[in-house]
Amino acid sequence: MVKGTPTMGLRGRGKKLHIACRRCGHKAFHISRKVCAFCGFGKSTKLKKYAWAWKRRDKR
Ligand SMILES: [Zn+2]
Repeated sequence: MVKGTPTMGLRGRGKKLHIACRRCGHKAFHISRKVCAFCGFGKSTKLKKYAWAWKRRDKR
């Protein structure tokens, strides 16, 4: 029995989707899409900033 959602094991198994981004350093760079979910690297030249993203990072 586990508390919360047992997503560990399911995620990370097989091929990984996100690697460390070259620009922001977050593990949010999608390999197949070649776009960073955090800063938008690969999609736009400008740094993408989301309030929720920074909030999440702050929480962690
Ligand atoms: Zn990035």
